[in-house]
Amino acid sequence: MQGVRLLFAAAIVAAFPMLAASAEGQPWMNRNLDPDKRAKLVLAEMTRQEKQTLVFGYFGTDAPWKKFTTPAEALAGSAGYVPGIARLGIPPQWIADAGIGVATQGGARQKRERTALPSNLATAASWDPQLARRAGAMIGAEARASGFNVMLAGGVNLVREPRNGRNFEYGGEDPLLAGVMVGAQIAGIESNNIISTVKHFALNDQETDRNRVNAVIDKAQARMSDLLAFELAIEYSNPGSVMCSYNKVWGEHSCESAYLLTDVLRRDWGWQGYVMSDWGATHSTAKGANAGQDQQSGYPFDDKPYFGELMLKAVEAGEVSEARLDEMAQRILRTMFAKGVIDHPVKIAPINYAANGEISRRGAEAGAVLLKNERGILPLSPGLKRIAVIGGYADKGVLAGGGSSLVYPIGGNAVPGLKPTSWPGPIMYYPSSPLKAIQALAPKAEVKFASGEDRKAAAELAAKNDVVLVFATQWNGESFDSPLMLENDQDALVTAVAAANPRTVVVLESGGALYMPWLDKVQGVLLAWYPGTSGGEAVANLLFGNVNPSGHLPITFPKDDSQLARRELKEKDAQGADALTATYSEGATVGYKWFDANNLQPLFPFGFGLSYTQFAYGGLQAQLDGEDLVVKFHVRNTGKVEGADVPQVYVSPAAGGWEAPKRLAGWWKVDLKPGATAEVELRVDPRLLAVFSEADNAWRIAAGSYKVMLGASATDLKQEASVQLTGRSLAARFNHAPGR
Ligand code: BGC
Repeated sequence: MQGVRLLFAAAIVAAFPMLAASAEGQPWMNRNLDPDKRAKLVLAEMTRQEKQTLVFGYFGTDAPWKKFTTPAEALAGSAGYVPGIARLGIPPQWIADAGIGVATQGGARQKRERTALPSNLATAASWDPQLARRAGAMIGAEARASGFNVMLAGGVNLVREPRNGRNFEYGGEDPLLAGVMVGAQIAGIESNNIISTVKHFALNDQETDRNRVNAVIDKAQARMSDLLAFELAIEYSNPGSVMCSYNKVWGEHSCESAYLLTDVLRRDWGWQGYVMSDWGATHSTAKGANAGQDQQSGYPFDDKPYFGELMLKAVEAGEVSEARLDEMAQRILRTMFAKGVIDHPVKIAPINYAANGEISRRGAEAGAVLLKNERGILPLSPGLKRIAVIGGYADKGVLAGGGSSLVYPIGGNAVPGLKPTSWPGPIMYYPSSPLKAIQALAPKAEVKFASGEDRKAAAELAAKNDVVLVFATQWNGESFDSPLMLENDQDALVTAVAAANPRTVVVLESGGALYMPWLDKVQGVLLAWYPGTSGGEAVANLLFGNVNPSGHLPITFPKDDSQLARRELKEKDAQGADALTATYSEGATVGYKWFDANNLQPLFPFGFGLSYTQFAYGGLQAQLDGEDLVVKFHVRNTGKVEGADVPQVYVSPAAGGWEAPKRLAGWWKVDLKPGATAEVELRVDPRLLAVFSEADNAWRIAAGSYKVMLGASATDLKQEASVQLTGRSLAARFNHAPGR
């Protein structure tokens, strides 16, 4: 490994001797100037060809099916590479996926083995922005130490479609929660003087037909749902880049949507970074560039070098103005200056995997959700004599999600050879064995394992033990959607095991929501999501109570398909042919809002999560501070052990009239010793009290009485207060940024 690292380092320095040079004769290297000024100065020195160089990115991995060999300066096996301008001291952009750590492309001959965080949905389930920030800072540091200065993280598409195969890469179904959590992660990544990329902009809410499907939704409703999640994530992190998505929006390719890329991103949100395309999402030169796309990524994923030689032709022909090409290059350069990419060149450096593995473990522990705990079956007593562990390759490791975000772990795949072994695979199990971690925490117990393939043998083993831990896994990944059911007869396995021994706890490793036909038959359910490279240890710590579960659901778990907003992922036209349309007629009524609006009882509600202790809420007050709504309450740990809770504040107009009966308006994650009380004060972002008006291009708060509710989940509301709001209007370019 060391040899490989040194080689990369040598390649970077050799290619960019200017990186070490002083700022003499290069006024843009003066760090006291603002990034725009610096970008302007260097841009003035650039030829048209050099400007074009900055806007055209290559795939960072060989693509034999396209007869493509990546440029020699790219970091092998990476997502992308954009050449620099060495004579002017502008480094290349070395680009890596993604949200859980430094990923390697599946087609790479050699994989970079790095630390993987739990899935992004697991991080969102921690409801702890500080934790998300630390996690982001860790993977950003690994990216930097691996030679990357652009990371393609964070995904903030709303979990609108529970079957979306990429939900595990996102921040959940609520725009506030997703925006805050993903924003915090991006801020952490960028604290390493590298660029991060919020994606996939926008409405890329399903993988089925993702390259061709046209997302249709009322624009105002989009502003209050998917676009609000992006708006908040961008406000909280000011990411260097935004990635426009594969799908179409309102009939246009996302990367050609002037509405999205210019009206919303620039005019309304005032964001100053650069828009890169997803890999294969560029469809034109002039149309995309003039709509607001600043960079083509991952050539040859697109059929033509639209922002390559075709860009030079388009400028010559006047289809793209010289001024627009300047603006594209300026945005890229100003971002590189602003984020520290130029002042702090990336360097290959050693990585402390032990320390980073601990950060990942703490994330997995904070995000796991205890869904059921009957008769105090958990935490397990270390004094147990006989424990059966069944299924889910728990003897070997923990599952990860598939696709471009896949991080290859140190030690390699614990269960190699499962199909698919190539894109969107391989199916990856991180070598962090729950079985071994359980054994370590119950040294006196006899811990036996059954793979679960033979259901009868598993049930026989279950019957003979004091407690049974069944591991059930569901593999999700990029480029496909999945029904919300466990595969390979795992439901039948759980049912058979629970019938043999009711003292059964199910540990779920899944990308998102699942149906649980066996729920009544088992005593415990711990949702571990995809728990990352230290997942086995994290699960064992939670099961034995070394760590008290404190995760809460960032998504609703439906009971069955009848509760979904859209039954079919593929819509048909009048002739019965594929319509290639995703009609989001539910608008902003997403997740718990859909359940509330339609009076549906979910399997588990948004915001839900149990603990080994109990909490009591009180003292709810809703007041105005100037025009801001301020909510105060207290929360007390009434149980016997220390634990963290997530009290949630929901709001609604007394008269109704929103897309849903209530919206999440704030929360606080609070750690409390037994008997301790915390006073909490939250300031509500006024956009959450408003309705977006497309006609006025503004947020409007209606005058009247509003309910403020304090709850332990979206369906467990403990206290209610009311407050009178005066009517007002907030500009679309409104930045609340309450400074988390
Ligand atoms: C994904 C992006 C990813 C890119 C580069 C695409 O397939 O949609 O999320 O960043 O590939 O690997």
